[in-house]
Amino acid sequence: LDRMKTLLVTGGAGFIGGNFVLGTLARGGWRIVNLDALTYAGNRDTLADVEGRDDYAFVHGDIGDAALVKRLFAEHAPDAIVNFAAESHVDRSIDGPAAFVQTNVVGTLNLLECALAYWRALPLERQDGFRFLHVSTDEVYGSLGPVGRFSEESPYQPNSPYSASKAASDHLVRAFHHTYGLPVLTTNCSNNYGPFQFPEKLIPLMIQKALAGEPLPVYGDGRNVRDWLYVGDHCAAIRRVLEIGRVGEVYNVGGDAERENIHVVKTICALLDERRPLADGRRRESLITYVKDRPGHDRRYAIDASKIKRDLGWRQTESFESGLARTVDWYLDHQDWVGRVLDGSYRMERLGV
Ligand code: NAD
Repeated sequence: LDRMKTLLVTGGAGFIGGNFVLGTLARGGWRIVNLDALTYAGNRDTLADVEGRDDYAFVHGDIGDAALVKRLFAEHAPDAIVNFAAESHVDRSIDGPAAFVQTNVVGTLNLLECALAYWRALPLERQDGFRFLHVSTDEVYGSLGPVGRFSEESPYQPNSPYSASKAASDHLVRAFHHTYGLPVLTTNCSNNYGPFQFPEKLIPLMIQKALAGEPLPVYGDGRNVRDWLYVGDHCAAIRRVLEIGRVGEVYNVGGDAERENIHVVKTICALLDERRPLADGRRRESLITYVKDRPGHDRRYAIDASKIKRDLGWRQTESFESGLARTVDWYLDHQDWVGRVLDGSYRMERLGV
């Protein structure tokens, strides 16, 4: 264990962070300390298989807690930090932006300040290897028309309180490199889907509702376009950037899989009709109901991921079709995990019940 490097992960009880922790521990080579506040989006069930391993430790706490984060740096002497912790749901940011500024901006600033103080005090040979990797989103670039794709040079034009708070955090990460020399890396990724995603997000929400034969609410005309990436491919990209990314650089990560929301929902319907036909013989597409559009709803996102492919040799392994089929099968096989989210029992541990 002594030869293992230590990684401080924040937000590792969430969707992407959880997949990252599980996948990275399965590969070996890193010891992981997972700092997570266990908000509604944090779920320790996701990590049940790794709890108790000696290469893994869970710490319940807030990335904005300076004393705690300082102590974690001192105690665990990490070789790198990967920051997943965030408020992440656009609809919630419209109802209450303040929590998004608190965690995504103030919290990230606290991580940067603690990391900087720690990094400055490291012996020179360890300073070189240290990395602060910030996980961000393509939503910071705003909305596209029918053509064009976001590159690392695209201007920041965030449109929702969520994307504005992520944009602010990206800028702080950049500034800590340019101002203080902190060895940072940033990834901006398109929409993720896959196992362990909280069922408020489009794909798991539609899977659950379609499974139950309930109406499937689709925003506006359903023709908003997102670029979808299977979560395991995103996690592999993050590991690649962490290990061989050039300090100070930004890497866009995407799936080359632009799909209209309505296409995504219809594909889920077809996959479920095949696997679990409704008892009354109805086709699930008939459950689709269009609802009033989300205010400020970005029309289209698309990512140009050629830089990470060219410079770091990253490639995705799942197509949208194979990844979505895998995801539907995962949800069918893990209705216990979903059930504990839907009935609230996944939070019992957090509440000490
Ligand atoms: P998520 O909402 O599923 O998980 C967030 C995790 O962070 C939860 O475990 C939560 O408990 C934790 N957390 C929240 N506030 C915290 C705080 N103050 N201190 C410590 N922990 C806290 O989010 P996700 O979908 O896994 O996204 C992870 C990261 O990736 C986010 O930064 C998000 O902006 C980014 N991202 C997400 C997507 C996507 O499609 N989901 C795409 C690109 C980038």
